[in-house]
Amino acid sequence: MSDATLAIPLIAARVDQVFPTLTAAQIARIAAHGRKRQLQPGEVLQEVGDHMRFFLVTAGKIDIFSVLGPSESLVATLQAGQFTGEVNLLSGRRGLTRIRASEPTQVIELEREELLDLLQTDSELSDIVMRAFILRRVELIAHGVGDAVLVGSTHSPDTLRIREFLTRNGHPHAYIDLDRDKDVQHLLDRFHVGIADIPVVICRGQSVLRNPTNQQIADCLGFNEAIDQTHLRDLLVVGAGPAGLAAAVYGASEGLDVLVLESNAPGGQAGSSSKIENYLGFPTGISGQDLAGRAYTQAQKFGAQIMIAKCAKRLACDRKPYAIEMDDGQRVPARTVIIATGAVYRRLSLDNAARLEGAGIYYGATFVEAQLCREEEVVVVGGGNSAGQAATFLAQSSKCVHMLMRSESLAASMSRYLIRRIEENPAIDLRTCTEIVAVEGADHLERVRWRDNRTGKTETHDIRHIFVMAGAIPNTQWLDGCVALDAKGFIKTGTDLSPDDLANAHWPLTRSPHLLETSLPGVFAVGDVRAGNVKRVASAVGEGSIAVASVHQVLRE
Ligand SMILES: Cc1cc2nc3c(=O)[nH]c(=O)nc-3n(C[C@H](O)[C@H](O)[C@H](O)COP(=O)(O)OP(=O)(O)OC[C@H]3O[C@@H](n4cnc5c(N)ncnc54)[C@H](O)[C@@H]3O)c2cc1C
Repeated sequence: MSDATLAIPLIAARVDQVFPTLTAAQIARIAAHGRKRQLQPGEVLQEVGDHMRFFLVTAGKIDIFSVLGPSESLVATLQAGQFTGEVNLLSGRRGLTRIRASEPTQVIELEREELLDLLQTDSELSDIVMRAFILRRVELIAHGVGDAVLVGSTHSPDTLRIREFLTRNGHPHAYIDLDRDKDVQHLLDRFHVGIADIPVVICRGQSVLRNPTNQQIADCLGFNEAIDQTHLRDLLVVGAGPAGLAAAVYGASEGLDVLVLESNAPGGQAGSSSKIENYLGFPTGISGQDLAGRAYTQAQKFGAQIMIAKCAKRLACDRKPYAIEMDDGQRVPARTVIIATGAVYRRLSLDNAARLEGAGIYYGATFVEAQLCREEEVVVVGGGNSAGQAATFLAQSSKCVHMLMRSESLAASMSRYLIRRIEENPAIDLRTCTEIVAVEGADHLERVRWRDNRTGKTETHDIRHIFVMAGAIPNTQWLDGCVALDAKGFIKTGTDLSPDDLANAHWPLTRSPHLLETSLPGVFAVGDVRAGNVKRVASAVGEGSIAVASVHQVLRE
């Protein structure tokens, strides 16, 4: 049997990994889970936007097309022994491509649940299929093959928000820049969109969303369609950063019915890191986006469901089962809850700063932002590891990085390997005891003023990009008195809960709270949102897995 015929160049892997050809024994194992189906030439197996099924070709050929409006272009041709699908099939989302038989063909067809069953029980096939699905997603993203087109402008904060949302959700999309693309007028005319409507998302070649919220995009692309929000879950995880994703992977793989709510995109703060170099097992480092993408797919493989662009607004904690109320008014009931909502950077409290957010002031430094400030001078604010990473990352593409921090040296707050890189990088200008005192600009940041607190001297620079990574505040405002917090708003757990905390919370049990349990029985807190957490990816992941062990105990009580 031969390789798939490809109409696009692969960027990430070999064709035999992206489109592997299965052996007769492997085909027989898949056949035992599905049904045979005969196809006529030209018969369509899947349209863009259809619910996905898994097809394994046993004779003949099928073609896979990307589709934009009336035109289709061939992506690949699969033959006997090769199978369809990519990560959307695991999450129950809709198909991004058209699949059609090109000659009399026979396939074996599996529903999503049958495929998940197979992947959880057959480790050899699980390896082959999961690797192919992940690599195919990488290729789809690289080639912009998908069901979403974003038309925007580099000068618009909402364009940046939408690009980040689609990118961090790993959703393949085409981006058309109003300022650079000549063909844009033609596209705008076809969809009756004016320049004033920008940014616009064209969803599945049909609906046009004018400056949509992230939730509207998630709804239009069907991110959460396959998820039943009403049934009582064993475990509800709030937040899909490293801690929440770890809880989802361990919970689902140990047989719990797990639902995760995520207000933005999987990965949390780690997802905004250009390169994590101290996470065990990745000696050459891994980008936060890649780590999050893998964990997200892993959680789904084990059957965890993850709702995107759904923000927990309230924990209904006065009776059991508990419930989380979301921003769309829906309530999700759960026997146990793991709070993994992490922290966000403190916003710059200066005049104009809120207005210029996304238009020169950023709170994350991924390649999306880096593209906006190529060859320009930038400022990074902060002296911790995240600021250090951002400075070294941005120094690769910017003209100069001014790194401003209030304290006297990096030694207390940053890992040694990053300090050395910063000190040895001629493109980084480190300024200790220095803080920003003013930001100015009309539609975009134009000027920055900073002050050296030792001398009191101020300097004004025509700098158009500031990256702020200083001072984390926990995402606990929505908990509204349900669990005990420390003075800074982080959630207290386990032995950190004093007798007074437990008495105030009317702790009802004879046992003490478990290690990561809050003052509310069966509700746990993990990762950066927890008081005393060490603010590392590894500790977030570790706590997510430990909490699941206690969830089992609570469910047995
Ligand atoms: C730029 C950067 C670089 C970093 N580099 C490193 C590094 O190299 N090594 C390292 O060990 N650590 C690093 N860190 C720290 C590490 O990323 C964090 O410690 C880790 O992400 C914490 O994980 P978490 O899951 O607890 O919280 P978070 O990562 O903060 O995730 C919380 C999630 O909860 C969601 N959420 C919040 N509120 C709600 C709500 N109400 N409803 C639903 N969802 C909600 C958020 O959208 C987010 O996705 C870095 C952090 C940053 C910002």
